[in-house]
Amino acid sequence: MGPRPNLLTRRTAGVASTTLALLLSTAAVGVVPAASAFSAAPAEVCAEPADVHSDARVRPGGGAKHEPNELTLAETREREADMAAALRERARFRTGAGATVTATAVTIPVVVHVIQENSTRTGGNIPDSMINSQINVLNQSFGGATGGAATGFSFQLQSINRVTNPSWYPIVQGSSAERSMKSSLRTGGKNTLNIYLGELSDDLLGWATFPTRRLSSTDGVVVLNESLPGGTATNYNQGDTGTHEVGHWLNLYHTFQGGCSGSGDSVSDTAAEASPAFECPTGRDTCTASGVDPITNFMDYSYDSCMYQFTPGQASRMLTAWNAYRAA
Ligand SMILES: [Zn+2]
Repeated sequence: MGPRPNLLTRRTAGVASTTLALLLSTAAVGVVPAASAFSAAPAEVCAEPADVHSDARVRPGGGAKHEPNELTLAETREREADMAAALRERARFRTGAGATVTATAVTIPVVVHVIQENSTRTGGNIPDSMINSQINVLNQSFGGATGGAATGFSFQLQSINRVTNPSWYPIVQGSSAERSMKSSLRTGGKNTLNIYLGELSDDLLGWATFPTRRLSSTDGVVVLNESLPGGTATNYNQGDTGTHEVGHWLNLYHTFQGGCSGSGDSVSDTAAEASPAFECPTGRDTCTASGVDPITNFMDYSYDSCMYQFTPGQASRMLTAWNAYRAA
């Protein structure tokens, strides 16, 4: 299917034996609302394995042996049932007028953790300007400014937390080091978006956790540092990996979830798609039942230059999920 994009030169994991320089605060867990059962314990204590709740964006032809967290049909059914249960649960705890009030416009506080191996750019030291640009991209993407639906979500950067720790670099998906990193660094309640930036394992561009009723210490999104606007990840350096992963964090599936049959991605206005679209295959149509593949959707795998929209159905699903899982 045409030329492959340039892949980043992958460096071997530079795990040095030097003393760790942890430049972080561990006081952050103190800000968690009392009502949330935040767990700083490893993911094993959660009802389901952490990787059931996460999903990744991959580069075509990359070294990934598998897509870490593609969901099975049973897993999506479980997630759908859980969201319905979460909505019922919240409704029970609301009384009077509050019972019907749900958010339609949400500003999400964002904390960005920059994981670094050292102080060099290749060691993860990306400038604040790229992070600010990423926040702008999120606001434009979710605000409908790039051509899609206005979702009602906006993003406000609260802080940038720079952490030099060679044992967390690169960030290895599903590793104990990842769990350690997140449980050490994660801050805020269910409504706080924690973004972890670094070099990533397995040629991945990023991955994210889906929302859960019990806040997990692994909650958040992991994004390749050089995928931020102006980064070196050729074809994937306009910030749309961040948008894609935050879509998962707000409970969106891939547009190709479930293929051509069944309820697909559980959104009615995204055409069914048999498999991920890479690059920008205009006119691709892999399912007979509905229109052409949604290759311009943020929840596909196409180039950043190719994807620019969420649909109204996705916007509605994210708001529903917000009110079920992440609203105060
Ligand atoms: Zn994904």
